[in-house]
Amino acid sequence: MSDTSFAALQLPAPFLANLTQLGYHDMTPVQAATLPLALGGRDLIAQAKTGSGKTAAFGIGMLLRLNQALFAVQGMVLCPTRELADQVANELRRLARGIGNVKIVTLTGGMPMRPQIASLEFGAHIVVGTPGRIQDHIGKRTLDLARLRTLVLDEADRMTDMGFYDEIAAIVRECPSHRQTLLFSATYPDDIREATGRFLNNPEEVAVETRH
Ligand code: ADP
Ligand code: MG
Repeated sequence: MSDTSFAALQLPAPFLANLTQLGYHDMTPVQAATLPLALGGRDLIAQAKTGSGKTAAFGIGMLLRLNQALFAVQGMVLCPTRELADQVANELRRLARGIGNVKIVTLTGGMPMRPQIASLEFGAHIVVGTPGRIQDHIGKRTLDLARLRTLVLDEADRMTDMGFYDEIAAIVRECPSHRQTLLFSATYPDDIREATGRFLNNPEEVAVETRH
């Protein structure tokens, strides 16, 4: 067993078995650099290129922190676009097979509100969405974040490029202050660095070098 094997993480056996079934044996570099910290509850800023496995890097800790018996939103992932939110939700659903019945709902713009509201009323553990639509749900009080434990800002550089900074700041104000916050980005420009002071609590910074 290599020390970048998922088996080195002491994950619950059914969770590890599911990873193996997915063909995940070794952690990717960003996963190896972040998962021990994320599982320990640290706030993180992680920079790694596209396709490096960032979804599992934030998703595994988020899934393992869930209390499945509590029908409340405990994890939230903010993404820049609907397509990316759908991809993240699908990857989280694959990972969640290792822990049973986790309800993951996507909340993205350009889609009708009513089915999203119905899914939230039915009880969601995790929501994945775009900042504008998440804000709409907060405004309508159809999304209650009082029990949120893990907040993920995925593709944070793209979200700030797209002008979502104010929406993100408003959403973060609705989150409990006692939470874990994980910021993932393909690049690490200065405006991200500024954001991190406001949104994260003493974050560990992880950058995975890309070889060209
Ligand atoms: P990123 O968000 O960094 O662009 P993704 O999380 O979308 O990357 O992952 C990219 C691809 O790699 C996905 O198809 C995912 O299923 C796969 N993947 C992630 N982690 C592993 C791993 N440890 N072993 C094998 N495949 C992996
Ligand atoms: Mg990604």
